[in-house]
Amino acid sequence: MFDDEVWEAMFAHAKEDYPAECCGMITADADGHHAVHRGENIQNKLHEADPETHPRTSTEAYRMNDMHVLRIQQDAEQAGGKLVAIYHSHIDFDAYFSKEDQRAALFDGEPAYPGIVYPVIPVKKGEVDSRGRKVFQLHDDETDSHGQKVVRVFQWDEDTLTFKQAVDSDDQKMFQGDDETSQSE
Ligand SMILES: [Zn+2]
Repeated sequence: MFDDEVWEAMFAHAKEDYPAECCGMITADADGHHAVHRGENIQNKLHEADPETHPRTSTEAYRMNDMHVLRIQQDAEQAGGKLVAIYHSHIDFDAYFSKEDQRAALFDGEPAYPGIVYPVIPVKKGEVDSRGRKVFQLHDDETDSHGQKVVRVFQWDEDTLTFKQAVDSDDQKMFQGDDETSQSE
């Protein structure tokens, strides 16, 4: 799915922003090479401005500026590439796709960014269990032996209309050119 450099960039971001959830985007260029774009988690700003509407702080949720996401997506598409992922971290909690995460990934009940995947990076006591980067390559039942303590990647499932854990066979379809040596920026 992503090469080690891309995973390490996400893990470094997650560790730096601890104990706030980090969030960001991954784009692919025309050749399928990935780049990591850090986003700003504006959840605390929303919470401070209106705690009733936004009861969660940035330790419990993430929100990216929609215009920032749109700009990154448009820049990628203009260069012949595309937005392929939105990642975020969980603070001292397991990697699962929460109700909040689903709300953030949907628009009117449909995927807000069709075709992208959502890596979720659990940070425990400031550390990322990096074994997790391999977990998405296993099948659902195999991941159970790791529990939910490691990184997991979620994607929209058209059959069930829910977000499910991504498995390798789906990755092949979505991430062309991964077999080549790819460099992240
Ligand atoms: Zn989350």
